[in-house]
Amino acid sequence: MAADMHKPTLNALHRCDACGSRAYVHVIIETGLNEAGYPDSGELFFCAHHSRETMPIIKLRCNVLHLLDETRFLQQHIQPPEATELTNLKK
Ligand SMILES: [Zn+2]
Repeated sequence: MAADMHKPTLNALHRCDACGSRAYVHVIIETGLNEAGYPDSGELFFCAHHSRETMPIIKLRCNVLHLLDETRFLQQHIQPPEATELTNLKK
């Protein structure tokens, strides 16, 4: 069963690098060569708004090594895990 497809990997601890909102997109890009001459990478987190704004530029200018887009969970209005836990405590 592909249960993982229906669960977000990113949680409320992941924040957008541009504005600090909850991140729904995780990107790893190649940032050049390190001192030893090997390709280096850096990671970025974006909220839905800033991923729409920034991803076209990143895809155009950078070598994207990894892209995780979980903005679909935002549209489905899935409750964040921490909110679910609080609801359960009240029962
Ligand atoms: Zn943002």
